[in-house]
Amino acid sequence: MTTPLHEIGTARRFAGAVSVRVIRAGWFRPDAGGFFGVVPKALWSRFVETDDRGRLRCRLNLLLIEAGGKRILVETGTGVQMTEKDRDIKGVEGGDPVEALRAVGEDPGSIDFVVVTHLHYDHAGGMVGTDGRPAFPNARYVVQRDEAEAAHGDELRLQGIMEVAQLDVIRASGQLAEVNGEVELVEGVRVMRTGGHTRGSQAVLIGKERAGGRAGDPTERAIFWGDLIPTRWQIPVRWTSAYDDYPIDAIEIRDELVSRAASDGWWCYFTHDPGEMPVRIEATDRGSFRAAE
Ligand SMILES: [Zn+2]
Repeated sequence: MTTPLHEIGTARRFAGAVSVRVIRAGWFRPDAGGFFGVVPKALWSRFVETDDRGRLRCRLNLLLIEAGGKRILVETGTGVQMTEKDRDIKGVEGGDPVEALRAVGEDPGSIDFVVVTHLHYDHAGGMVGTDGRPAFPNARYVVQRDEAEAAHGDELRLQGIMEVAQLDVIRASGQLAEVNGEVELVEGVRVMRTGGHTRGSQAVLIGKERAGGRAGDPTERAIFWGDLIPTRWQIPVRWTSAYDDYPIDAIEIRDELVSRAASDGWWCYFTHDPGEMPVRIEATDRGSFRAAE
């Protein structure tokens, strides 16, 4: 594979002078059966290949958003605290957000907000650095309150799954910003609790509606889906993953947001998609949705 481990895309602008770049922070290989959940292999294997261990080759994508004089990092990758055995099973290459930022010439100390879409290892594992301290010393870490509570809850399914220890480090440092629902971080950048994938999963809505302009102008808005829709392969709204804790909720919110994304021309960024981004979503003539060509 000749693709570099770390890359940064060209900046794309959205309404309200919001600039967005994709940072590729490495690779990981989720189990394809788990990733596609209820979808039969006969369907997904038509357009995506697996390795000899039945895994998909997916990216660890971060977003670097600049708006209102602030710099916002979305997601923290897997970080540096996984064991070698775990990295091997999950096929992690790279994954350290600090290394990824430095590799593309960006200073981790310049980040004002870190949005963690949910507390799974491949999104929240890089909240804390090699020294056990917050990896982004000057940032507030934005996590939904529901997600923080779920991480500390007693549900058996979640034991050992959520990055509780790292969350506690961030909280103890005074850098945790627990939010509830839909919250504007700076003008043109909002987080929105979606649930579905985990109890407090959140998406990021980018670009403000231009005063006097038509809501949904196709050049204006974008969304980062978190794991609600991890790649363009999961745009069909009922294609939930086995990792979705609340699949019925996931399908309802996916249907609502994917319909809006298609009708209003939102540009889409996906957390694990290996392809070029952003992409738009279009309705098919059979009542489903897909990535526009
Ligand atoms: Zn993920």
